[in-house]
Amino acid sequence: MVPLINMSKLFWKKRFPFKFVYSDKYWIVDIGEHVFPVEKYRLVYEKLLHMGAKRENFLTPQPPKEEDLFLVHTPKYLKKLKTGALSHSEILTLELPYSPELLEFALLFVGGTILAAERALEDGLAVHIGGGFHHAFPDHGEGFCVLNDVAVSLEKVKQEGKVQKAMVVDCDLHQGNGTAFIFSKKDYAFTFSMHQMDLYPAQKPSSSLDVGLWSGDGDKEYLEELRLNFPRLYQEFQPDLVFYLAGADPYEKDQLGSLRVTIESLKERDRIVIEEARKLHIPVVILFAGGYAHSVSDTVSIHLNTIKVAQKIQGKYF
Ligand SMILES: [Zn+2]
Repeated sequence: MVPLINMSKLFWKKRFPFKFVYSDKYWIVDIGEHVFPVEKYRLVYEKLLHMGAKRENFLTPQPPKEEDLFLVHTPKYLKKLKTGALSHSEILTLELPYSPELLEFALLFVGGTILAAERALEDGLAVHIGGGFHHAFPDHGEGFCVLNDVAVSLEKVKQEGKVQKAMVVDCDLHQGNGTAFIFSKKDYAFTFSMHQMDLYPAQKPSSSLDVGLWSGDGDKEYLEELRLNFPRLYQEFQPDLVFYLAGADPYEKDQLGSLRVTIESLKERDRIVIEEARKLHIPVVILFAGGYAHSVSDTVSIHLNTIKVAQKIQGKYF
């Protein structure tokens, strides 16, 4: 006979067999009227509480150490950020209004992705309710991305010897230009990006593998391309960790894109990327990346679906 208290612990463990990384500070930053819905982080968090998640299911990130940021970003750029010395054109490229709070926001996301990556290595899977700022380069930010949390985290777990090789599976609507550039000459990282071609960024440095889709492409093209590459890429590269950017912006009703991908197919995308990795016992860290649907509730549903898919898969394998 199992005592009741243990049964209830087992129940929670089964419902949320992995940790979430989240901070209340993710949505406090004031960026004014903007297409980037920073409130999505809080909305997902609140929905998770409604689904029965408890405070202990969440880990709170801290800003990263400066030496971690130096693994990717240049001292000159970090100094400019710290002193608020970005030029007008650098702020235009960033497409976000600079403030000390914005820097704090960006730093916390880096700390969050580091924490989620470390946790994924322990538990097999972890979800960062945030992150995926793949347009940030070593010496500048762009496209709403101040610091590249994906690259800093990958470099950190690699430097600490926690992984030998890692893969970035970037399924955001936009090509992961910053991440592609950062890892272009590093054979311990494989960068995969599937994105809409006729869209920002204008310059797309080569990822290890880029899959370009075009305006009007829908479920069929999207899932066919994905199935062509997974699990094949996992089997060939054999990463010790996968950073999955589960962007909500390939969605048919996104304001920034013109793919015709439905919510159902985005769920299938999540299943393929996560399940094929977990079948091979590869840990996965899930990051949200973009999402600019006309209705923010659609963006929130897409992100929550990714979590529900992960929950089902992780329950199946552990
Ligand atoms: Zn995007």
